[in-house]
Amino acid sequence: MPREIPKAYEPQEIEQRWAKAWFDERIFTAENSRNTSGRTFSIALPPPNVTGSIHIGHMLEHTQIDMLVRWHRMRGDLTLWLPGMDHAGIATQFVVERKLAEQGIRRQGLGREEFERRVWQWKAESGGVIKQQMIRLGASCDWTREKFTLEPALYRSVLEAFLRLYREGLIYRGRYMVNWCPRCLTAISDLEVVHHERTGEIWDIRYPIVGSPGEFLTVATTRPETMLGDTAVAVHPEDDRYKHLVGKKVLLPLMNREIPIIADTYVDREFGTGVVKITPAHDPNDFEVGKRHHLAEIDIMTDDGHINSNGGPYAGLERFAARGRIVADLEAQGLLAGRKEHTHAVGTCDRCKAIVEPRLSTQWFMKMKPLAEPAKKVVLDGLIEVVPENQRTILLNWLEGIRDWCISRQLWWGHRIPIWHCVACNEMIPAANSDIEIVDGHARAKSVPSQCPKCGASKLEQDKDVLDTWFSSGLWPFSTLGWPDDTPDLRTYYPTSLLISGYDILFFWDARMIMMGLHLSARRFPTDASEGKTSASSEGRGFNPAASDPATPGVSTPEGNPASAIPFHRLYLHSLVRTGEGAKMSKTKGTGKDPLQVTEQYGTDALRYMLVSMAAPGTDIVMSEDRILAARAFANKIWNAARFLFVNLEKIEAQGISLEDLASPDTRANAPYAVPGETSLAHRWIFSRLAAVISQVNEALHDFRFHEAAQSIYHFFWGDFCDWYIEWVKPQLAAEKSIAIPAWRNIFAAFDAALRLLHPIMPFLTEELWHRLPQSSGARSIALDAFPESRVSWPDAAAEKDMALLQEIIIAARNIRAEMKLDPKKKVGADFSSPDAAVHKLVELNLDPLLRLATLSSLATSSERLESSKGPVRSSAQFDLRIPYADAMDKSAEIAKAKKEIDRLSKDIESKRARLADETFRSKAPAKIVADLEATLAERVIEHQKLFDRLKQLE
Ligand SMILES: [Zn+2]
Ligand SMILES: [Zn+2]
Repeated sequence: MPREIPKAYEPQEIEQRWAKAWFDERIFTAENSRNTSGRTFSIALPPPNVTGSIHIGHMLEHTQIDMLVRWHRMRGDLTLWLPGMDHAGIATQFVVERKLAEQGIRRQGLGREEFERRVWQWKAESGGVIKQQMIRLGASCDWTREKFTLEPALYRSVLEAFLRLYREGLIYRGRYMVNWCPRCLTAISDLEVVHHERTGEIWDIRYPIVGSPGEFLTVATTRPETMLGDTAVAVHPEDDRYKHLVGKKVLLPLMNREIPIIADTYVDREFGTGVVKITPAHDPNDFEVGKRHHLAEIDIMTDDGHINSNGGPYAGLERFAARGRIVADLEAQGLLAGRKEHTHAVGTCDRCKAIVEPRLSTQWFMKMKPLAEPAKKVVLDGLIEVVPENQRTILLNWLEGIRDWCISRQLWWGHRIPIWHCVACNEMIPAANSDIEIVDGHARAKSVPSQCPKCGASKLEQDKDVLDTWFSSGLWPFSTLGWPDDTPDLRTYYPTSLLISGYDILFFWDARMIMMGLHLSARRFPTDASEGKTSASSEGRGFNPAASDPATPGVSTPEGNPASAIPFHRLYLHSLVRTGEGAKMSKTKGTGKDPLQVTEQYGTDALRYMLVSMAAPGTDIVMSEDRILAARAFANKIWNAARFLFVNLEKIEAQGISLEDLASPDTRANAPYAVPGETSLAHRWIFSRLAAVISQVNEALHDFRFHEAAQSIYHFFWGDFCDWYIEWVKPQLAAEKSIAIPAWRNIFAAFDAALRLLHPIMPFLTEELWHRLPQSSGARSIALDAFPESRVSWPDAAAEKDMALLQEIIIAARNIRAEMKLDPKKKVGADFSSPDAAVHKLVELNLDPLLRLATLSSLATSSERLESSKGPVRSSAQFDLRIPYADAMDKSAEIAKAKKEIDRLSKDIESKRARLADETFRSKAPAKIVADLEATLAERVIEHQKLFDRLKQLE
């Protein structure tokens, strides 16, 4: 590593070089044995979709994780950040289908196997983008442990989880109402339906009463096409208007089907006419009503949203075309009683934006209530800490009202459900166990049943559905560590320490991990093959594997102990990054800013700093150019400070002192050194400040107050270290050896500590500069060095107090100078007074840096209060400071200058007034131009008045 530091800070070059080195040298590979400190820190990366590339939102999440991971690693914890990707069933299938469509290919034409092969091929070619980006952005993951949700080991975890839950009766199959996406051709979960307020129409339709010509019941609906599947109309049992009609029938218009008038308390008498149509196959409430009254369930729609053969004359029409036709036909028949505009919530598919159709369908479900109870308990008992607090309440409420989860998807890309159906008798037979075999490099269930245990038939077909992607991600914290096997990784790193995720996936993912983790991971061995055989019978439901589980030697934690089965100890829900318009960042939605582009422009370190410095818990971040420029300026400041040190080193090296003498690790360890002949105040002070900042940063990071950690470090590095300390001790660095050596040693020790303090936020810059300092032989990276720790001798209240007073005096002088508009380089004399002898002593001892930093030529001291007639005064409880006019300026020159400026301003004001008075200009110019001109004029008038006052003062 060359010692010279280039003049310009060029993050692009530095960052690419280190990103590659960290990856190639496997700097972040974690061991899986207990370390000496006994502390472990493990965190699983929320697996990004394999389809994706990184947006700024990921970048915030990854920076926060990386900051904590680097901090723990530097503090000596056995640290693992486990990365991986999610196969993202619906999203990936969507992307690949779109690509195929560009070539005129439909997946149905390819067939399932060939389509899956194409997706794998696509994954091999394009699926590694995020990984490359993360490496480039410096994420300190252990890439040797990278996982993919569809890889064989994780496939096995999914099989194991499914089979256990199935045998326990927690997974069941049934025909229920689901959210159907006619574009994606699959059921989706409640969470994947996004509700939008939309303005549509509501139609009133007359249903003729059978046997009473000219009498009608009027119903209101926003989806008239569903009437094709109506099997009743309902009224409230106590509604006097309709009591006499219950038990009679209406004739369903257009279909000419007689359907009963039923009474059910579900009907709201106050709403509309108090009569509702009942369509059990297309509405969740109607489905319940239908069950109570044993009504037929008529599905009138095809998978892709067309009317099916149950829709009579409308069969074959697309659902919205059918709606138009139906309304027109009703109108023609005089059965449309009214129509009006109506705003209501419309459910759309989160993936493709198509309007979701509530629809009766045979699907797989997971019972959630029994899983939610233990999850609630661990959160209430504090076994899992949720930050921020309001998210804890949101989580608990959601668990309280949880509904069963539809886990099957009619997709081809994903974990296929390990259940076989007997073609002869419809018996369902699960795979005997979670063993897998590898075919063409991909996993599939090995223990495939060959015969129906009920009827003996051998024609069995595997269920066609795959599992919701979130099923496999729900196992992520333990499946990635080797579960269900009892692996060293699982023992060392599970439960994981922390999960950091966006609050937008609290229910999708975080909550499900808690539920699945508690239920499954307490017992870490796979189901025994014999156990599988027992439960392959039709009585398999309700089988409790835990009850007959063989002894599990080697598992150190007792079975069922929730503390050992929680997936993470702490859950931190981070802010979201929003665009200027406040939309959530997402690549597929086109709003995601490419962090690599920002990085290319300003550097990754600057982007990281900007993101964390704004990441106050509970508030969303809005991107801004100013902020990133400020972050970039900070990086530059540090670079220049390092450059200053190395450039000035030459003078002392000329006296035969080497960098090694001044800055070796051993030398740094003994700082601060006393500087003889002169006060050591600034040295004692900087180490005292360092001690304070270290503890502030440790506390802030522990509590996820990333922005506070960032700001503390910023103020220390830029303010304390660069602006005060370096400036203060500059002359000492060039003094004779007896002074220069200890001063240099202190400054290098403080600089080295500051770099290590900053490393978790700005890893690249600090790595680069750390290598310029002498390090122990074999030291590979600042990331593996220690986080700074305060020493007992560092905190120094007296030094902080004295320094604060001196800084106050210097700032007072600078403020007066600015007010007097003095030439920044012009030294002037000042008067100083204090009633306190100790203050006088302090000033006297530090007179040299004080004069230098305040750009003063002299300080006339007294104990009398200073009058302001001779010049402006700044006062504090302890002192007065004054810069006398006579001394500060050439009065006549100042007067001339002020007069000239007043003259110039007067002319400017006059011309602006004339322009504004011009009616032609006013009527033609855009309003903004006029407003701006008015504002500028107002400013000029104030400036003019100020100058005028000042001139009077001078004369
Ligand atoms: Zn969809
Ligand atoms: Zn059978």
